[in-house]
Amino acid sequence: YTGKSGSQLLTENLKKLYVKDYQSLPVVVHENFSVYDAICHMFLEDVGTMFVVDQKSLLVGVVSRKDLLRASIGQQDLTSLPINVIMTRMPNVTVCGGDDLLVHVASKLIDKQIDSLPVVREVEGGFEVFGRITKTNITKAFVSLSKDEM
Ligand code: ADP
Repeated sequence: YTGKSGSQLLTENLKKLYVKDYQSLPVVVHENFSVYDAICHMFLEDVGTMFVVDQKSLLVGVVSRKDLLRASIGQQDLTSLPINVIMTRMPNVTVCGGDDLLVHVASKLIDKQIDSLPVVREVEGGFEVFGRITKTNITKAFVSLSKDEM
């Protein structure tokens, strides 16, 4: 018997959960996409957030449901309004890496009141997006922890 409390054991297990084991594929759009095309793409891909990249495939921003709704309220022509005008842009995008702990990502999501983070790797001139981690991924990890006990 180790003498560890239930919460110590839970903490130990939480510290074994890494982003790379729970991430899913990112949905990425080019910064010149129109708001109209971004809305269609979001529906087709069935995601809540898309990551925006430039010509070199480097991360330049994030566009969420609320960003697209906000842009749609006005009288603008959505087919000629590029998403790089309405997105949340770098350096204000919160990112994570595959080797980060899932619990650290969860706490970032709470702090910043957002639903997802791009999983990135640093390359020359910026970040390349290779995954995404959402509240759903974290909920799945939470459930998998409870299954370990059974
Ligand atoms: P939704 O708009 O679908 O509720 P969020 O709550 O995630 O989605 O987004 C709220 C705001 O935060 C939006 O303006 C969005 O651009 C921004 N946002 C989303 N994800 C990030 C992120 N990883 N880093 C910085 N800002 C983000």
